[in-house]
Amino acid sequence: MVKIATTWLACCSGCHISLVDLHEDLLKVLEQVELVHCPVLMDVKEIPDDIDVALIEGGIRNEENLHIAQEMRKKAKIVIAFGTCAVYGGIPGIGNLYSNEALLEKAYKTTFSTKNEEGIIPSEDVPELTSRVKPLSDVIDVDYILPGCPPKPELIAGVLTSLLEGKTPELTTKNMCEV
Ligand code: SF4
Repeated sequence: MVKIATTWLACCSGCHISLVDLHEDLLKVLEQVELVHCPVLMDVKEIPDDIDVALIEGGIRNEENLHIAQEMRKKAKIVIAFGTCAVYGGIPGIGNLYSNEALLEKAYKTTFSTKNEEGIIPSEDVPELTSRVKPLSDVIDVDYILPGCPPKPELIAGVLTSLLEGKTPELTTKNMCEV
């Protein structure tokens, strides 16, 4: 059975929701694969070895994202940048307009709803921010990109079906490109 893993990094999880939006078609896909890691459907912390296809949602915003992306790359034969955030940085990439200090100040001290009288910005047990938000292909080799915010369920199904059939995914639409 083909082993498929998915994960999410700096993202909103909407691409995974699009995967779940396959509804009964998802069941057809699941009949043909072994899902070994998928945060929206299963609670597996460690990234398993010997993954055939990895779908990675989200870009790189912190050191934990970077570590997970590198682990996935080490363990997966095929890596797909899954969704616009993974492909280009997406909405989290807007953070690149500001310094990390300004972002932390805003997030932890000055938003309207924040109550932080001591002005503490957490630094322990919180992954350090990378210097800027990066698309996946900036930090690991990516085999395919599947942009879209989120990618349409039928596109996800098409890509997975092609890979399961041992074919190269159809690359003729603007929604799916080889890199
Ligand atoms: Fe969310 Fe869109 Fe980014 Fe997917 S591409 S994680 S739906 S913002």
